[in-house]
Amino acid sequence: MKSQILCLALCVATVVAPFAPVPLRAAEDVQRKGMDEATRFIFYSVMEGLYEDGLSKEDVAQILMKREKETYFHFIYACPVCNATIWALEAYQARPDGFYGLKEARSTFGPGLSPAVHEQLFSKDAAKRLTVINSLVKSWMERRMKSLRLNADERKALTKQLELKREEGMKMLESFRKEEHGAGFGVAQAAPAYVDLKECAVCNAAVGKPMKLLER
Ligand SMILES: [Zn+2]
Repeated sequence: MKSQILCLALCVATVVAPFAPVPLRAAEDVQRKGMDEATRFIFYSVMEGLYEDGLSKEDVAQILMKREKETYFHFIYACPVCNATIWALEAYQARPDGFYGLKEARSTFGPGLSPAVHEQLFSKDAAKRLTVINSLVKSWMERRMKSLRLNADERKALTKQLELKREEGMKMLESFRKEEHGAGFGVAQAAPAYVDLKECAVCNAAVGKPMKLLER
């Protein structure tokens, strides 16, 4: 009888096991390998904003302007806010040319930038470009913050994390200005748009601040 019960238990276990709930992700994965909540917030805000506003490949290429022997012109190298923003811009830029199954060739949702915003983004004046990048990213962060419907404490905690990342970015900018990373990799190479500026367009956007210009 005992052996019959044991056999029954084993049979049940064998049959039931495949249908047992499987954890969606490994416990250590919760840490997302260093990708904290604020980093992912920045990434998803920008990604969602790009799709919702429907920026063109040319618009994104302009934001990701890169000249010879320089890092991305409008960003600060190794700034955590800039990095997560760049990841989303690069990922959006690499999307397929069209959504599967649609006859019309479209690969984004929004109508694209208004003519006025487009003109400002393509201005020869870097300050005007930074101002529009700041406004776009700020609106994307605000959009996601609203859609997450965080409670007051959660919102406060996320805002704090974003502020800390902005501080880190500002420290990076100052260290490039002081050439702490060696001659040849100072502010002109590692943060080309910020030679005369002390605040970053997307770092300011992350904490709801407009672009601060003319700090010579
Ligand atoms: Zn930055």
